[in-house]
Amino acid sequence: MFDTRELGRRPGALKRLSRSVPAPKDLGIEVIGVAEGATVELDLRLESVMEGVLVTGTARAPLTGECVRCLEPLEQELEVDFQELYSYPDLDERGRLAATDDEDEDDEEDTLFLEDDLLGLEPVLRDAVVLALPLQPVCQDDCPGLCSECGARLADDPDHHHETVDIRWAALQGLAGSDQDGEKDNAPRANGDDSQEK
Ligand SMILES: [Zn+2]
Ligand SMILES: [Zn+2]
Repeated sequence: MFDTRELGRRPGALKRLSRSVPAPKDLGIEVIGVAEGATVELDLRLESVMEGVLVTGTARAPLTGECVRCLEPLEQELEVDFQELYSYPDLDERGRLAATDDEDEDDEEDTLFLEDDLLGLEPVLRDAVVLALPLQPVCQDDCPGLCSECGARLADDPDHHHETVDIRWAALQGLAGSDQDGEKDNAPRANGDDSQEK
């Protein structure tokens, strides 16, 4: 466990640590997030400043979710940075405690905010993760989604088509053909009656 006493109370004192913690519940949004219990790797930099301890960190965790276009499960790696200032508990009270020579109680307050399961860090981590998540996660940038006719995943079957599509193409080709006929008929009239014979 990290103990902030190692930093002392000297502004500028620095400590780095890396830890792996299980992801808390609901670390994410509806369509994508970090599964509960998945390993979150934390690299933390704790710096003693006048007001308390400034925590700067990077979190890496596996993301699981589903593509909003084709609904396939997807997995990504998430990496987010965060920073939070943890203020020392009331300094006036601390001064009084120190004056009573109750060192143990004083020490407990020192370590309150980052003890055990990083309880103090969880809201910060959650905010950072949720902000970093894609609102519309896709399995690939150009995911073509699902066939509007049958729901098949088009990425698996790029040549996928249905008879109705062919009929439409045939109809379009038919229209194109009649347009050409129309142009042939109309063009001579625009140019004058004589050209029609040539
Ligand atoms: Zn997709
Ligand atoms: Zn289809």
